[in-house]
Amino acid sequence: MVMVSADVAAHHASATTAAPDQPKSKTMTVCYIGLGANLNNPAEQIVTALQALDKMPHCRLLSWSSLYGSKPLGPQDQPDYLNVVAAIDTDLAPEALLDSVKQQEDSQGRVKLRHWGERTIDLDILLYGDETYSSDRLTIPHKEMCNRSFVVLPLLEIAPQLILPDGRKLAALEPEFSGEIQRISALTVDL
Ligand code: ADP
Ligand code: MG
Repeated sequence: MVMVSADVAAHHASATTAAPDQPKSKTMTVCYIGLGANLNNPAEQIVTALQALDKMPHCRLLSWSSLYGSKPLGPQDQPDYLNVVAAIDTDLAPEALLDSVKQQEDSQGRVKLRHWGERTIDLDILLYGDETYSSDRLTIPHKEMCNRSFVVLPLLEIAPQLILPDGRKLAALEPEFSGEIQRISALTVDL
């Protein structure tokens, strides 16, 4: 059971910032991670993943959205999803961050059953500062982020002023997505 409490402080939509307690050569980049779960107590899976994002080497959890509920994409014979978007800052390079989040998916028992199918936890890198990045295993910004209400609405909650790397305002995307997603509650996470 997930405890509900006051919302966390709103997070700034800044991109790359110097970390106050790091040597000058190291820069920390604010990244947004999309979390989704619909198996094995999804709310607990999301809390576990948020705690892990905070503990991950070279990462720090800055803030996270309320808990949202959404209908599945793809196969409809699977449970509804819970979704959260988190802000972290990290000095990991994009591919290293992907390795870390995939490792966390594995450690929470994620098994790929079918495309867009049920999962204990999905951790997608939505944004990495205001950078764009593309390789055979990683695309940033996440290719589908602007089409997914369960990403755009929680992200808007924690970064209402956010400007995408292509110059578009995130807030300008919101009207297209009403009705597909429900805000459930704020989410308390013990760190
Ligand atoms: P989905 O998130 O679309 O349901 P998966 O989580 O199974 O699918 O991801 C499939 C692959 O997408 C991953 O193995 C990863 O290499 C790739 N990928 C590409 N861009 C990203 C990104 N921005 N964040 C996370 N994974 C990504
Ligand atoms: Mg994924």
